[in-house]
Amino acid sequence: MSELVIKNLHVAIEGKEIIRGLDLTIRQGEVHAIMGPNGTGKSTLAYTLMGHPSYEVTEGEVWFKGQNILELEPDERSRLGIFLAFQYPVAIPGVTVANFLRTAINARRRAENPEDKGIPIPEFRKLLKSKMELLKMDPSFAGRYLNDGFSGGEKKRAEILQMAMLQPEIAILDETDSGLDIDALRIVAEGVNALRGKDLGVLVITHYQRILNYITPDFVHIMLGGRIVESGDAELALHLEEHGYDWVREKYEAVS
Ligand code: ADP
Ligand code: MG
Repeated sequence: MSELVIKNLHVAIEGKEIIRGLDLTIRQGEVHAIMGPNGTGKSTLAYTLMGHPSYEVTEGEVWFKGQNILELEPDERSRLGIFLAFQYPVAIPGVTVANFLRTAINARRRAENPEDKGIPIPEFRKLLKSKMELLKMDPSFAGRYLNDGFSGGEKKRAEILQMAMLQPEIAILDETDSGLDIDALRIVAEGVNALRGKDLGVLVITHYQRILNYITPDFVHIMLGGRIVESGDAELALHLEEHGYDWVREKYEAVS
């Protein structure tokens, strides 16, 4: 069983420390939610795990399958079995969702074996069909140009389908910020529910408690001031829904 282990992570942006000693372990089979007020460093965590160059890791490690992934390029992290969703996916007019997915799968196969001829088309079609059925997606979606004119919800659908096709062991989804309507949130939650199982570990990063009306995480963590300050089960999210973040601030801001 694989696990992603974040140890004493510190991250700075333009010299300012945003993440300040974060520890977290996500195992295959577990669904974790990180919640927290705006500006607390949730997206910074997601971008850092993705390997975005603007985020400077000043201390700490992130281990997966015996490697510190912070030393790896984003595509190497992906090949190792970590899926990192893009919060703002780019549109690729002229490239269909299906072609994009086939290219992604083939890139991964070739990285492992330069002689690889790519996934045979019938095998690819079968895989795509089964994943789209699992996610209750309309078959016509695969023929549309990737993210070209997609609604927020459709972009999320494309992202979840990509996750289903790449079959990662650990998936990290940053669902924060404005522009994400309740439909998009529900699509992500339903996708995670459809894909969750003993082989998949998930980290959902979110500002909104309401995503947890659709998904029941095994673990909920509250992030404040660049650290995880509280961890619990789904009850913790319900508590947040009822009481907001003020009690967390009162409890921890004085000491941080
Ligand atoms: P969250 O996702 O929890 O709302 P972020 O990780 O987006 O928080 O931001 C945490 C802090 O880092 C905020 O104070 C924000 O202003 C700052 N920050 C984030 N990205 C950048 C950036 N690219 N340049 C400068 N400051 C940034
Ligand atoms: Mg954010």
